[in-house]
Amino acid sequence: MKPAKFNYLRPSSLEEAVHYLSEYGEDAKILSGGQSLIPLLNMRLSTPKYLIDIGRAEGLSYIQEEGESLVIGALTKHREIEKSELVKKKCPLLSEAIRWVGHEQIRNRGTVGGSIAHGDPSAELPCVLTALRGEVVIADVNGEEIVSPEEFFLTYMLTSLQPDQLVKEIRFPILKPTSGSAFVEVARRHGDFGLVEVAAVVDLSENGSFSEVKLAIGGVNSVPTALGDVERLLVGKEPTEEIYKDASVLTMEMIEPESDLHGTAEYRRELSGTMVIRALKQATIRAQGGRVM
Ligand SMILES: Cc1cc2nc3c(=O)[nH]c(=O)nc-3n(C[C@H](O)[C@H](O)[C@H](O)COP(=O)(O)OP(=O)(O)OC[C@H]3O[C@@H](n4cnc5c(N)ncnc54)[C@H](O)[C@@H]3O)c2cc1C
Repeated sequence: MKPAKFNYLRPSSLEEAVHYLSEYGEDAKILSGGQSLIPLLNMRLSTPKYLIDIGRAEGLSYIQEEGESLVIGALTKHREIEKSELVKKKCPLLSEAIRWVGHEQIRNRGTVGGSIAHGDPSAELPCVLTALRGEVVIADVNGEEIVSPEEFFLTYMLTSLQPDQLVKEIRFPILKPTSGSAFVEVARRHGDFGLVEVAAVVDLSENGSFSEVKLAIGGVNSVPTALGDVERLLVGKEPTEEIYKDASVLTMEMIEPESDLHGTAEYRRELSGTMVIRALKQATIRAQGGRVM
């Protein structure tokens, strides 16, 4: 199929892009890597009058360490994150999760800003950002605004972005060298969005109990969800089969999955419980200095 007619704009800078958005925002769509938007245009599920292609806007593709965060420009490709030694060292959770995004071809084109702005509750990067309590930097003609994942992701494919705003960069907190992290996912086929995915980071105190836990789940609620109650349950406890089981039961109580073509709500709930145990165990073994294959 072919897209409906649109006017094509290609800003060469962030300033030009937000200027176009302030003028045409209500009738416009930002185009980044096009891996999600182009199919939507071709199927005419999206028919913007203006397409603002920021793909060649300068200064929006970077991965850098700033204070306690890894700051990633919106136009940075998934593949660049996957290959980055800095990401591997400072935020191994992100390196592990990015390999689950589609196929290599998709990761060569898709961008981190596109993945976050698209707001798919099954997408990997929103789940990681939610687990780490990272930040989304939004820009418009008036300047910048920083929002939390909780404020940003509103429901299925809907974010707090206003028509005149775009995602400028994403800030992922750097993990402590002593922490262990794990990203686990079950998808029906290689490259598919996950049915359930869990991101976990744990830190252990000297006596071996959990001193800090960060946990989020994707694919089961309308937005990626931080499992705060489960985190609080775990802190101060030793990693035992019993506590993993308690974490699993509490997770299953906290989520509200729906049935769809890919799986029933009951299946997703059961799977979520299993995946939380799996993520926590892997992260804990890594925090203890072991390797998980
Ligand atoms: C076969 C297939 C499998 C896939 N599997 C996965 C998967 O397993 N996991 C996963 O996470 N993704 C998956 N994807 C989606 C892929 O990761 C996309 O790259 C991503 O969703 C969007 O990134 P993009 O740069 O291509 O954005 P685009 O397609 O260009 O844009 C997507 C949406 O975000 C908006 N947008 C883009 N950039 C910005 C910005 N900077 N500011 C504001 N709005 C913006 C656009 O207007 C559009 O609404 C898959 C895609 C395909 C085709």
